[in-house]
Amino acid sequence: MTPQANTLAQDERSSPILEARTLQNLVGGAWVSAKTASTLDVTNPASGEVLARVPLSSRADVDAAVAAANAAWPDWRSRSVGERTEALYALREQFRRRLDDIAESITREGGKVSSDARAEVTRAIEVLEVACASPMTMQGRVLEGVARGINSETIRQSVGVCAAITPFNFPAMVPMWFLPFAIVCGNTFILKPSEQVPLTSELICHILQDIGLPPGVVNLVHGAHDVVDGILDHPGIRAVSFVGSVNTAKYIYRRASENGKRVQALGGAKNYMVVMPDAVLDKTVANILGSAFGNAGQRCMAGSVLVTVGSAHEKIVNRLKSEAEKVVAGDGHDPKASLGPVISSAACERIHDAIENGVKEGAELLVDGRRPENVPAGGNFVGPTILNNVKPGMRVATEEIFGPVLSVMHVDTLDDAIELVNGDPRGNGTSIFTENGAAVREYSRRVEVGMVGVNIGVAASPAYFPFSGWKDSFFGDLHVHGWDSVEFFTRKKTVTSRYFSAGETGKFFTEQGDKK
Ligand code: NAD
Repeated sequence: MTPQANTLAQDERSSPILEARTLQNLVGGAWVSAKTASTLDVTNPASGEVLARVPLSSRADVDAAVAAANAAWPDWRSRSVGERTEALYALREQFRRRLDDIAESITREGGKVSSDARAEVTRAIEVLEVACASPMTMQGRVLEGVARGINSETIRQSVGVCAAITPFNFPAMVPMWFLPFAIVCGNTFILKPSEQVPLTSELICHILQDIGLPPGVVNLVHGAHDVVDGILDHPGIRAVSFVGSVNTAKYIYRRASENGKRVQALGGAKNYMVVMPDAVLDKTVANILGSAFGNAGQRCMAGSVLVTVGSAHEKIVNRLKSEAEKVVAGDGHDPKASLGPVISSAACERIHDAIENGVKEGAELLVDGRRPENVPAGGNFVGPTILNNVKPGMRVATEEIFGPVLSVMHVDTLDDAIELVNGDPRGNGTSIFTENGAAVREYSRRVEVGMVGVNIGVAASPAYFPFSGWKDSFFGDLHVHGWDSVEFFTRKKTVTSRYFSAGETGKFFTEQGDKK
């Protein structure tokens, strides 16, 4: 693969944008203006600074991207699996080399504190590394002698043009959940990133050009609903991956599957952390705080409800309060800050409203983060917040708050905790804190949740295992990464074969079996 010329010079890409420019789409290897006059501002959530304008592309832009991806597909799928995997090796090297640039982009447009942003890039690298196993994971199966002299083999082939629609909270990792597996399996790809954080996807596309990925293998279309509908309805797109909120996931799943596409749609979450009376206090508190307030609670794996069982309540609540009060909110670049801003002023208002509603409904405001001190002006900051004595049915107990707000609920027994968790319509992740193996076994076996952590904050599966929730947290069959990804991004074909002769002798004529 030969490196392509790039539209942005290296230093221009890594230096701060001085004036807001309108982003372009990447279609067939060229950066092109979207066929639309509508744009949205992309802002730095820590300061309100406008970083760029993102075009709300039209269906015509989707059509152009599909045409480019379709044109690139025959050549790309015909390349050897080794050659496609080499592109991932190169991409992985670039991700390692440019880890700081990518993390910086995440912090600037998404607000994440630098350590979280770097951890996100590291997770993306892990997915890349797992996808590099494709010469093994793409293998099919063969059975000799399904009948006399007849073999059957199942091979895996690419699906075609695949698209991913991604959320704001992981601007690098979520696109990279799909892109590496899709292309290494021989597909071509269209990415529609969140309109709130389009810059990191743009940077990733520049990196793809730097490694010389052929034009059209990966295309980028910015925008919002019109682009999404264009993707869902386009007959040229064979598979859709989605990550976002529950209602959008339901919509995407229904519309894309009605249109005959394979779909994996990951939705929102409400994740419960259950603490048993024998839990190791210090470690448990540290893990709970990390889960509740990491990425300002804007994680589908955020631990948003703490369920204390029996006497765990008295042991943990005061400790939690004093430790939460030490959490420092601030700009993601500030090394003292462990809690960055939330994505927008609208999100900030929604979170305030949820807290106020919780208090109105009778919860105790144990730690109030509504007015954090010493945060930069113009940013969307909410400090760590804990609502105690939350009861089932309160809004804070039912809605996904997606901010740094922890609701504490109390139950008497493990059975009650399981009932509470299973009563939630979502089931993404959960954790249990205890040293009791029997309680762990019971909890893991009975909870209707896709990912379970034991003495660990709500834990995302590593890239070599499938990632996904259950119930309203996931619509589809095949989960993200691990073996499931290869299943999702390939179609199986079974070839059953026999041969009547070997050249002129007919020596191996098989209908009569082996010749002596
Ligand atoms: P969102 O649903 O608002 O947006 C996600 C994507 O869908 C964006 O690209 C957006 O442009 C598009 N979109 C939004 N509304 C749409 C509509 N009505 N029609 C068509 N397209 C639409 O989600 P978000 O606010 O960007 O991200 C936060 C949500 O994502 C949370 O609910 C979080 O739990 C969830 N999430 C889930 C996972 C998971 O693995 N299950 C991972 C990350 C985030």
